[in-house]
Amino acid sequence: MFRTRFAPSPTGYLHEGHALSANEAFSAALEADGDCLLRIEDIDQTRCRPEFETAIFEDLHWLGFEWPAPVRRQSDHFTEYQAALEQLTGLGLTYRCFLTRKALEAELEARGIGPSPAGDRPYVRRNDDVSEDEVLSRVAAGEPFAWRLSLAACRDFLGDEFSKLSFIEEGDGENISFGETMAHPEWLGDVVLARKDSPTSYHLAVTHDDHLQGVSHVVRGADLYHATHMHVLLQRLMNWSKPVYRHHKLLMGEDGRKLSKAHRSKSLRELRKEGVEPSELLKR
Ligand code: GLU
Repeated sequence: MFRTRFAPSPTGYLHEGHALSANEAFSAALEADGDCLLRIEDIDQTRCRPEFETAIFEDLHWLGFEWPAPVRRQSDHFTEYQAALEQLTGLGLTYRCFLTRKALEAELEARGIGPSPAGDRPYVRRNDDVSEDEVLSRVAAGEPFAWRLSLAACRDFLGDEFSKLSFIEEGDGENISFGETMAHPEWLGDVVLARKDSPTSYHLAVTHDDHLQGVSHVVRGADLYHATHMHVLLQRLMNWSKPVYRHHKLLMGEDGRKLSKAHRSKSLRELRKEGVEPSELLKR
């Protein structure tokens, strides 16, 4: 059965870009006679707010979308993500990283690491970074750390398979190759899976939930295309299902940049107040 999802984060009001993305997902489900779930991705408890979650429901109803109940809210399931992290740790695929953001930047700078095709500069641990004894004493001293996935350990664990991971891409987004696509987790490096103050990261929670909820097709904006290169690795390590991906084109603002709150695109509620009809937004 075809199942997709729309998975906004309640960190602000939805804007036109979200309307486009929701429309892509809900229309794909309608066309395939499947369903489209709504999932609230509120793992960042410092930025997410209940009023934004309420607004998501209101705005999507205003646009005319319907979704099956119950709606999964990720913050209700932190223990599940933690169990997945423990499983990866049990396989020897994770490590504790004590680098602060500033130290990490300095380290990347010193090593002369430039941005990867995924955009950011990927961090990969060196074997001699921190000894096991030092790790234990720093943990005992209460120093904050992040759990990272070790690409070197994943490579050892999967052998040849590591370099053969792939996914099916069916989207029309910019700079995205269509069809079977080789995954490049190294573009993202040793990603963070959890931190002291946030028990899961986006990569872990999203792949966990897509599997758990039986998502067959991920329909989302092209801005998340590169994350897929890491998601495919997590799916393989955890034996989670691998959906087909459709990364759609992003809606561009008049200045040619991606629409977002930062670029002052109007929220759906502002547009609604101005008398804009949902049909005007969805026909674009
Ligand atoms: N929660 C993510 C966002 O708001 C979307 C996650 C996804 O579709 O994979 O951008």
